[in-house]
Amino acid sequence: MKVAIYPGSFDPVTNGHLDVIKRAQKFFDKVIVAVIANPEKDSYFSLEDRMSMLKECLKDMPKIEVDAFNGLLVDFAKKMGVSAIIRGLRAVSDFDYEFQMAITNRKMKPDIETVFFMTDYKYSYLSSSFVKQIAHLGGDVKEFVPPVVVRKLKEK
Ligand code: ADP
Repeated sequence: MKVAIYPGSFDPVTNGHLDVIKRAQKFFDKVIVAVIANPEKDSYFSLEDRMSMLKECLKDMPKIEVDAFNGLLVDFAKKMGVSAIIRGLRAVSDFDYEFQMAITNRKMKPDIETVFFMTDYKYSYLSSSFVKQIAHLGGDVKEFVPPVVVRKLKEK
């Protein structure tokens, strides 16, 4: 069984993340969407909220599981029997950071490959922080995020 992990902050999940998940699930038997629980990284939404929004958008996709992790990604990946780490690439600007992280993870666990998926061009400018800023300033974010996130942002 081929299992992959898609780690991230998902603070909150955007249509760009969902696009990557949809592409990735075609190549794996199971994809674990793993939310970083790291308390020192300040998040806008709580871990519970970030996970419940993901679960709501992914509930009709049987190959996808939502989980949380603390500490080193590669340790969690190993524990879950994962053979690939999925990351999304938007633009060249993502490359430096993602390259560094992929090489570091490979150094620690050589048998886990990092696999990159390119998002649809219409999400290539989209980030969670951009969505939070627009929502905070009263803008409409419904073309960037799923309905459950629009609701949660309004509540906040
Ligand atoms: P992190 O804090 O790990 O960067 P994010 O939730 O911001 O967490 O992103 C998780 C992954 O999803 C990263 O690989 C990031 O490049 C990718 N990603 C974020 N937004 C998009 C998008 N609009 N299209 C494609 N990939 C994206």
